[in-house]
Amino acid sequence: QQAGAAKAGILDKRRRHVGPNLALFFEEDPLHIVRGQGCELFDAEGNSYLDCINNVSHVGHAHPKVAAAVAQQLGTLNTNSRYLHEGLATYSEAIAGTMPDPLQASQLAPCSPASNGPLHVAVVDHAYHGHTSACIDLSPYKFKGPGGGGRPVHVHVLPCPDVYRGCNLDGGAAARAAIAEAERGGARIAAFFSESILSCGGQVVLPEGYLAGVYREMRAHGAVCVADEVQCGFGRVGRAFWAFQLQEVVPDIVTFGKPCGNGFPMAGLVTSPPPGKAFSQRMEFFCNLWEGAPLPAARAGGCTAAPACGLAVLEVIREEELQANAARMGAHCLRLLRELQEQHPDVIGEVRGEGLMIGVEVVTDPHTQTPAPALARHLKHACKAHHRVLLSSEGPFCSVIKVKPPICFSEGQAERMAGALRDALDALTPDDKAALAAASREEVERIAERHRLLS
Ligand code: PMP
Repeated sequence: QQAGAAKAGILDKRRRHVGPNLALFFEEDPLHIVRGQGCELFDAEGNSYLDCINNVSHVGHAHPKVAAAVAQQLGTLNTNSRYLHEGLATYSEAIAGTMPDPLQASQLAPCSPASNGPLHVAVVDHAYHGHTSACIDLSPYKFKGPGGGGRPVHVHVLPCPDVYRGCNLDGGAAARAAIAEAERGGARIAAFFSESILSCGGQVVLPEGYLAGVYREMRAHGAVCVADEVQCGFGRVGRAFWAFQLQEVVPDIVTFGKPCGNGFPMAGLVTSPPPGKAFSQRMEFFCNLWEGAPLPAARAGGCTAAPACGLAVLEVIREEELQANAARMGAHCLRLLRELQEQHPDVIGEVRGEGLMIGVEVVTDPHTQTPAPALARHLKHACKAHHRVLLSSEGPFCSVIKVKPPICFSEGQAERMAGALRDALDALTPDDKAALAAASREEVERIAERHRLLS
């Protein structure tokens, strides 16, 4: 009762003082989480929830080593990056050490004095690259999403490769089409942005050679290739530290964000010398909120605490062998979820992933392969209500259940997650399935129509 009153009080304060479009998980019954540890979250009543979706708390909630590093630095000094401080230089060196050598650029079109005519960009459909207005322009997930303003003219969208349905698999062809579209408008593409496993796109593992094909065409056209490793970097994919390495490409620019600080606000980018040089010749650059070191090394944290935090995260990944854990636990999750697919082939269309970046695509019917957002939502709520297992769904139609926990996920936790899904699926009656399929078909039509209008 007390916990209920506390929750109602917080909700009331939020209603009065926080913007209504600040989203809440499980909006109809939001969780009041007061503590986290590893992959677990604890609510105000002390109930433990298994967090299978918070990729930001990359090495585990409230990791003591990370917390101590930040506390120690905040208690010593936290100031502008225009003073010399060892932390930023050491962190930049450490990040550079994780990158293939050399992270080699072909050229940097936007900064190149040779470029003339309008400069456009290319992205992959359903991508999310951030929330500033420039980044929303690069994010079909936002500009085609609810409240979105549609595709800006300077953005060209490569269709999302869909291995499950066997379409749009040729990266080179997709890049050529985007380049031709830009050229028809008298423009050229200056940069191509992509994740190396598509997160908001629905945990899409790119077909072999996909990025190599896109990069080849883009570079021939004079564009730079940017890998957004915010979600898929830092060992999450298990077989490699950076997900672009799975595609055997070397980007010109790599960006990374929140997981690198285990949720502490920091972000960075790494470039090879040519883009870095072109950028540094344009304008003085110094500490805005989270940034502040000279290119071409990593920039992370304008403040002094951010590099301390980032270094602690890198150390934890190494000391606790979390990349290898992500590989092992990812394989275990895939095994368990594929067993589940065998038991429920009528609704589980595909189980896919690399390391602890996994998607379970649910469908109304395995033959039509129609996405089933209503079923995904139902499963997510059932797992929370009956097992306190937190899952979420994404993809163009929100029909892909994502499993993207902190990378310290354990075997027992993988089993708890798969067990929750199994129970939720086993409990479905044929009538439930029919009703959820009908609701899903309607929802898919509505979303597809919005996508068409805003493309
Ligand atoms: N790219 C991806 C794939 C992301 O998931 C996010 C944020 N979740 C961003 C970019 C933006 O990062 P930031 O919020 O640090 O700007």
